[in-house]
Amino acid sequence: MDENRPQILVTNDDGIFAEGLSVLRDALAEIGEVTMVAPERPRSASGHAITLHKPLRLEKVSIPWGGEGYATNGTPSDCVVLANFALMSHCDLVVAGINLGPNLGEDLTYSGTVSAAMEGAICGIPAIAVSVADFEYLDYRPAARFTARLARQVLQRGLPPDVLLNVNVPNLPEEELTGVAITRQGKRRYEGRVERRLDPRGRAYFWLGGEIIEDIAGAGSDGEAVRAGKISVTPLHLDLTSYPVSEALHGWDL
Ligand code: MN
Repeated sequence: MDENRPQILVTNDDGIFAEGLSVLRDALAEIGEVTMVAPERPRSASGHAITLHKPLRLEKVSIPWGGEGYATNGTPSDCVVLANFALMSHCDLVVAGINLGPNLGEDLTYSGTVSAAMEGAICGIPAIAVSVADFEYLDYRPAARFTARLARQVLQRGLPPDVLLNVNVPNLPEEELTGVAITRQGKRRYEGRVERRLDPRGRAYFWLGGEIIEDIAGAGSDGEAVRAGKISVTPLHLDLTSYPVSEALHGWDL
């Protein structure tokens, strides 16, 4: 471990053995010392949960894609906290991904990937979340190469406090990517969000999901950029306050 190089934490919500995590690690190893800490099993859509009521373990494991990492029984956000306060001497950058599946619009509030990057920002560390915006036959390498380029600049330029970057990369060969768009968080809506079925004993069960009615936010949104074949970079802020409504509330009779 060369302490003079940037110290980078790589984590995800797809689990320590996910291919996207190792492809990201390999790309970032060119610019810093990478420590990999990730959940021992897939924890997608676990949001920003942290573990407060049971012991957390950190176990060194060898990775089928090469090298070693630390597996935890915790959530993606736990990984960031553990790495920062129990494992790494210091951390210059947190990168979460490369996630299998888009993190666009309001979906990012469910995302373990984006939440891990948020946890980095909460810890005062510049952070990037990166996803390939598709669910099958993913080539993670274009996303990894772009993330390394972005990470290099984040390390040079820094990010303001409480800000993280959410990156979505279309699942296209590198030469078919049409550019990089700086975007805003879009809107996604689902149709048929709950399916009701019967189990073999005749009792109802429910399955969440539904069809995405594609991004309805329009111009400048993350989803629009990805549909146009562009890499979407959305700066996110931890402060969720609606300032206009805050103003308005002052006029309410409370
Ligand atoms: Mn995931």
